[in-house]
Amino acid sequence: MIVTSSAQPVERTLSDNLTWQEAVRHAIRSPRQLLAALGLPSRDGDAMAAKDFSVFVPWEFVNRMEPGNSLDPLLLQVLSTSSEMRKTPGFELDPVGDLRAQKQPGLLQKYLGRALLVTTGSCAVHCRYCFRRQYPYALVPKTPQGWVSPLQEIAGDESIEEVILSGGDPLMLADSSLRWLVDRINGLGHIRRLRIHTRMPIVIPQRVNDELLGWLRDARPAVYIVLHANHANEIDASVRRACERLRSTGATLLNQAVLLRGINDTPESQLDLCRRLIDSSVIPYYLHQLDRVHGAAHFEVDVPDGQRIIEFLRAHLPGYGVPQYVCEHAGATSKTPL
Ligand SMILES: *Cc1c(COP(=O)(O)O)cnc(C)c1O
Ligand code: SF4
Repeated sequence: MIVTSSAQPVERTLSDNLTWQEAVRHAIRSPRQLLAALGLPSRDGDAMAAKDFSVFVPWEFVNRMEPGNSLDPLLLQVLSTSSEMRKTPGFELDPVGDLRAQKQPGLLQKYLGRALLVTTGSCAVHCRYCFRRQYPYALVPKTPQGWVSPLQEIAGDESIEEVILSGGDPLMLADSSLRWLVDRINGLGHIRRLRIHTRMPIVIPQRVNDELLGWLRDARPAVYIVLHANHANEIDASVRRACERLRSTGATLLNQAVLLRGINDTPESQLDLCRRLIDSSVIPYYLHQLDRVHGAAHFEVDVPDGQRIIEFLRAHLPGYGVPQYVCEHAGATSKTPL
């Protein structure tokens, strides 16, 4: 059912001329403002749910939503709803065992050879299904000084081949801080790969500016950038341009998506997403089964349904266009194929 409301004017902003910092500053911060932007009526309960984990959506992302469509697949990813307040057995605060994997504040290691730096708690958008929505970001280093100790630990462990910058979203940091960090990583001889987990080039494509391209080009290790788009509608011309610019540095682009009920849980919507990714030279890497975090139960898709979607993709796409369908079990030695 698509609820279309008439009359209300649809507020849009021209985002092309904003810097990424301005785009962050002007982002929508309440469910009421978000619904009004699409000409939709406010609903009870949305604001309550936003108290726990605030609504945060830049206009660049809102402008890709369909006005008047209360079931828009981008809207449903970011609009707080009263369903988030339901307690569901099996859905917990730290579903993927992040706290147990913490070697020190800001440094996680679950898997051989790969260490993950939680560089910031901020994101360019608040995704309602986020598995780190309950993460104690207060413990994350906030300045380059705070990374000295995690970097020392990485420097002293020759078994680590790859550093993953994650968060939050690492590209929320200033380029000067990122350059500082990457310069340090360049100096660690045993680090062969630098990976960046980010949704920013999708949400605010103008984040891919010249400064960012500069320190990316200067990275010594091979660079892998793992984007996060869940629906084909997220990838418009400005995102494709951002991807091209990122690739011009020599970086390899991958995408991870989360399988979300009512958003991207049909074979056709996953096919559209994967097609659009590979047409933009982005390899679909993972399709994640939802992590069972408190407040996200209404997004869960049954695993057999996910498996049928993957079979459909295999029948329609080249092998490199089909993501690995995985879930994360706390304590496992890798993501677990489904
Ligand atoms: C998911 C994850 C990784 C990356 O796993 P890959 O399978 O290599 O993509 C690394 N460290 C942590 C802590 C993770 O959660
Ligand atoms: S961008 Fe990633 S870390 Fe940030 S809220 Fe969305 S899913 Fe969570």
